[in-house]
Amino acid sequence: MRPEILYPLFAKTDSLPGVGARISDNLEKVAGARILDLLWHFPVDIIDRRAGPALKDILFDQVVTLELTVSDHDPTPLKSKKPYRVWCHDDTGTIGLIFFHPRRDYILNKLPEGEIRLISGKVEVYNRKLQMSHPDYILPVKQRAEIPEFEPVYPLTARLSGKVMARTVGDAIKRVSPLPEWLDQSLLDREGWPNWCDAIKSVHHPKSSKDVNLLSLARVRLAYDEIFANQLALEIMRRQSKKKKGRSLKASNVYLDQVLSNLPYELTGAQHRSIDVIKADLAEPFAMMRLLQGDVGSGKTIVALLAMLIAVENGAQAAILAPTEILARQHFISLSEMLVGTDVKVAILTGRDKGKSREGLLLDLALGKIDLLIGTHAIFQKDVVYHDLAMAVIDEQHRFGVEQRMHLSRKAKSGTGMDILAMTATPIPRTLTLTVYGDMDTSRLDEKPPGRIPIDTRVMSLDRINNIIDATRRAVVGGSRVYWVCPLIEESEVLDLAAAEERYRHLTHFFKERVGLVHGKMKAKQKDQVMKSFKEGTIDILVSTTVIEVGVHVPEATVMIIEHAERFGLSQLHQLRGRVGRGETKSSCLLLYGTLGKKAEARLKVMRETDDGFIIAEEDLKLRGAGEVLGTRQSGLPKFKVASLESHSHLIPMARDDARLVLEKDPTLTNERGRYLRILLYLFERDEGVKYLKSG
Ligand code: ADP
Ligand code: MG
Repeated sequence: MRPEILYPLFAKTDSLPGVGARISDNLEKVAGARILDLLWHFPVDIIDRRAGPALKDILFDQVVTLELTVSDHDPTPLKSKKPYRVWCHDDTGTIGLIFFHPRRDYILNKLPEGEIRLISGKVEVYNRKLQMSHPDYILPVKQRAEIPEFEPVYPLTARLSGKVMARTVGDAIKRVSPLPEWLDQSLLDREGWPNWCDAIKSVHHPKSSKDVNLLSLARVRLAYDEIFANQLALEIMRRQSKKKKGRSLKASNVYLDQVLSNLPYELTGAQHRSIDVIKADLAEPFAMMRLLQGDVGSGKTIVALLAMLIAVENGAQAAILAPTEILARQHFISLSEMLVGTDVKVAILTGRDKGKSREGLLLDLALGKIDLLIGTHAIFQKDVVYHDLAMAVIDEQHRFGVEQRMHLSRKAKSGTGMDILAMTATPIPRTLTLTVYGDMDTSRLDEKPPGRIPIDTRVMSLDRINNIIDATRRAVVGGSRVYWVCPLIEESEVLDLAAAEERYRHLTHFFKERVGLVHGKMKAKQKDQVMKSFKEGTIDILVSTTVIEVGVHVPEATVMIIEHAERFGLSQLHQLRGRVGRGETKSSCLLLYGTLGKKAEARLKVMRETDDGFIIAEEDLKLRGAGEVLGTRQSGLPKFKVASLESHSHLIPMARDDARLVLEKDPTLTNERGRYLRILLYLFERDEGVKYLKSG
């Protein structure tokens, strides 16, 4: 239940004076339907009306408040499009006030000839004369107090004037009363932050442009509140799911040792550390919910396999979910290889399996004759019944939603929580990990397997296409295989395709039947056929849209060419580049640009300088902003109203620690500060978890 103290803030905007249906509709479009939404609708700039220079000293485009004598009216001639002009003067010059379609009586009344008036607005120059069109204020001199010295500038819609917005927000603020302090006093003292109520007021009544800055004390305090609410909510959920009963799966190491002794390499330190925490998680009687983050090629597959084998050692089953058919097949091949010499039964199930063979497989699965199932979303369809599925791995977790995770979890034996290991190769900046995956425990594979030869990355103009084709020819003659990725065009698959097809035709002039094309619109069978030809070397050059982004493994491919690299996100470029550099020979990556602005240049430079996905993700965040880094569509990144993840990310770890500490001391949020924190959760509508608190 929402605390009563917040009721006024959750009231609709039409309860404010002068706000009818039309204005409230427009407010809803730009800010929201409730008073609260207006409070979060922050000014982006400030108008300073204090300047009152003599007319001869005025600067162009300056906002001023002037004391002027009205000289005479120059009305619009009938049927003319010209504006109505009122000439005014001071001792140093004249200025024309301009009105389009004014009401005559209004203007005569407002600006009587011979009188002095206060006029405030923006001065322009037209035909070498000073003018001001539609002044913001025209008042008798004794009413000076009605003109604000500073005025906030709000984001608006076409149908809402700045004046109405400012007045309405001002009325909304009158409904704000102090709320009990939920932050630690020592934190407030240390940071010099105002209390919530003062912070809201100072953001909406700025006294200088400093006050509308994202890093003003008031803005930072409010951002912290929001991030803190986010972290508290995630921490409540995390503690909750930790409590979910699960199976205690203890490793006997029978299969683990077998597989490890078969490996042609030693695990890296990071792989060892990940396995150790996973072992500990699985041994606990709670459901595991762990995210394994690791760059392309960091060796997540073996970690996943070892985790799954712990389930198998306990007589249960495990499954791995992959986002594409190609990736599922690849996993099937590499896992089968690693399991040679063990009696672990592996099978693959994808959307392509139909009829008799599928039935047979499902039967084996239900009877427990299959230990490890690999596949696409086909593995959690309704009619897929497991004998005893205890552990699931979700590869490329960002490709799946929470729903799919739930579907998979439901395949566990009734009454037990499924142990889940989610994996992602889309590096997310550490700070953002907390806001997206704060409800999971995370492990990072931040150490690459040894012996990798760095990829030589170059940035080049597309104008040099002829040189690039020559270089491609040399590479092919030398035995290399080449990926050629075509640009992303406004998220449109059709246009992407057209560009890829055009490049494909172009390249066949030079390379004849040694060029192949894959794209998202192809049938799975065709796609696999082309991929197979590329893998086997019957084609040398693979032109594609970004479908090859995930998981294709062709060690002989040593050249990656990306057209219009400036249109890709850094993390995406990084993923693409990770397709090469998988064999024994040195690989290279050519980033081709069309036009290159300053920002794009800086971004491509990052690609040249590092191949660490985590660093690249951090840089991408700095250069582009959170929404873009993750691609808002698939990220699951929570929406923040107040905090800007670019400017305020330094607050995230602080808030996380604060949230953990608070819940450690007061797990049900019932002591004094705990009760105030509940208000915070409701204020930012992060209260979904509050209902779990009672059950303790
Ligand atoms: P990703 O994290 O991208 O899924 P993979 O698990 O596919 O990475 O591993 C990439 C390659 O690195 C594979 O060929 C795998 O055999 C190899 N590999 C994994 N771990 C190690 C290691 N510790 N030492 C050497 N090679 C390794
Ligand atoms: Mg992988």
